[in-house]
Amino acid sequence: MKELIFLEPVVKKCIWGSEYWTVSAHENGDCLVKGGTFDGMHLSEVWRDHKELFGVDTSDEFPFIVKVIDARDALSIQVHPDNEYAYENDNGASGKTECWYVMDCDRDGSIIIGHNAKTREEAAAMVEEGRWDDFLREIPVKKGDFFQITPGTVHAIKQNTMIMEIQQSSDLTYRLYDYGRIINGVQRELHVKKSLDVMRIPHTDARRYTNGVPGKLVSCRYYDVDRYDISGSRDFEKSDAFMIISVLNGEGGIDGRKIKAGESFIVSGGYGDFTIFGSLTIMVTTIPRLVGALEAGGTKMVCAVGYADGTIIDQKSFPTSVPDESIPKIIDYFSNKDIYALGIGSFGPVDVDQRSETYGMILDSPKLPWQHYPLKKVLEEALNVPIKVDTDVNGSCLGEMTFGCAQRMDNVGYVTIGTGIGAGMAVNGQLVHGMGHPEFGHILVSRLPEDDYKGSCPFHPACFESLASGPAIEGRWGKKAADLSDRPEVWEMEADYIAQGLMAMVLTISPRKIILGGGVMHQQQLFPLIRKKLCEKLAGYIHTDELNDIDDYIVPASLNDNQGIMGAVQLGVLAGIESEWAK
Ligand code: ADP
Ligand code: ZN
Repeated sequence: MKELIFLEPVVKKCIWGSEYWTVSAHENGDCLVKGGTFDGMHLSEVWRDHKELFGVDTSDEFPFIVKVIDARDALSIQVHPDNEYAYENDNGASGKTECWYVMDCDRDGSIIIGHNAKTREEAAAMVEEGRWDDFLREIPVKKGDFFQITPGTVHAIKQNTMIMEIQQSSDLTYRLYDYGRIINGVQRELHVKKSLDVMRIPHTDARRYTNGVPGKLVSCRYYDVDRYDISGSRDFEKSDAFMIISVLNGEGGIDGRKIKAGESFIVSGGYGDFTIFGSLTIMVTTIPRLVGALEAGGTKMVCAVGYADGTIIDQKSFPTSVPDESIPKIIDYFSNKDIYALGIGSFGPVDVDQRSETYGMILDSPKLPWQHYPLKKVLEEALNVPIKVDTDVNGSCLGEMTFGCAQRMDNVGYVTIGTGIGAGMAVNGQLVHGMGHPEFGHILVSRLPEDDYKGSCPFHPACFESLASGPAIEGRWGKKAADLSDRPEVWEMEADYIAQGLMAMVLTISPRKIILGGGVMHQQQLFPLIRKKLCEKLAGYIHTDELNDIDDYIVPASLNDNQGIMGAVQLGVLAGIESEWAK
């Protein structure tokens, strides 16, 4: 249905200024429709009774609140819970993730985001003793800044700041400190214990998962927000789902209707193509779309759907038997999930060259039924979504770089030591491939004099994989690796080979961090041994801050074994972006 829904803002006067709930169906501020077919109805009623306007599942509450916050004075220092904490501790309420666009502020304005405590005890002490200047992290702010405030983020808007806020439809806030302000003889209620419970300690800034796309302000589990600077006019394509348009500055028009800074309105799903005229900046808020992720492993196929911020909402595995059995299950899984793109991290060798005619095909794999199987082509035809394929190890590397312990790092290595050995690598932020993909497991290492094991690789008697994979350990010592924990000589030798492999990586791509995964690395005692041997082998030849902090340099995977599937989510996000750019 074609409808623009304009609303009467709900105004809330506060001690620090005013809040205008410009789009809200929340019980604490349910906007009335202003004009049009639904004039005078509450947004909650329209949402409930006119599903045809929205083009999305309307069984839950209307998902957003859009507010303009006009702060004359500082707001209290607050922190929001996540859904789980809110549900358990506040009668089934939902948590709150929100984001802010700064419409106006003082020239030397500032904002509070985060704190300086290292531990929960330290935070409690600082709060208890009222050491607010030490505790709070105050940062400069200017017009046009944008912040994602995830649950657990201590935050406060300061005086003379005007903000456009998009948030989950929740009115739950834990107030940590109110500057001791007294109104009508009393202080507003504080929620110090709950605040300390939910606070993220130490503070880390929320990522926005914008993937370098100009105009994308944030993409997370709850909303996707894009910014457009319009001068003259701009065309928008029709969308099945509704969108909220908020005017950040300037003025203009849409289909004969004037719009100006501070206003927000809803464009119905199925509205059709439209054009916005004028000289203005707008923010478009939509419900995030689901991304598909496939981790195609040698033994199992892990299928999942999630959001651009790495949240996985559903997951299922199938055995990797033969394509005729596994592929229909994968197609079946994804076909009713409404995904817009799919990322695949695949066992190798696989064609990862996007320009190749056989991009996404399994190559000369020892898994014979999969040899030359056109994995990407088959799934693309069945699911009709853009797909991006990389190796499983590059996928894990990307997962750690996007969501895990290697965020914001340019060069990174991810090495898996399991049935085989493989490495994913990134250089200058890009996953490495060229004529093929790296086969790091097959670099040569020096056989130790006391080792007479023949090697497990059919091609190379003394490659890294041949001497250090799980099957190599089993072949050498006559027992499964997992049953050899109490034999120090096993792990001394294993650590030596791994350190040799890692030394080659340190000396070539100069990674900022090396992450080790795979079944063999379940042997935790390997980590200190590997770190020590790597330093010995490097023999003081190179000096970097990273190597000086070796415990933080050679590390286990950080995402609870989800680095592979989360990396595949990110590959899917990239597939979506690339296909949009190709248009
Ligand atoms: P794959 O490499 O096949 O994807 P894994 O990473 O789980 O799978 O690696 C399997 C290998 O890891 C096997 O050779 C197995 O013996 C070894 N392995 C699994 N668990 C352990 C453990 N707890 N300790 C040592 N080795 C293990
Ligand atoms: Zn080999």
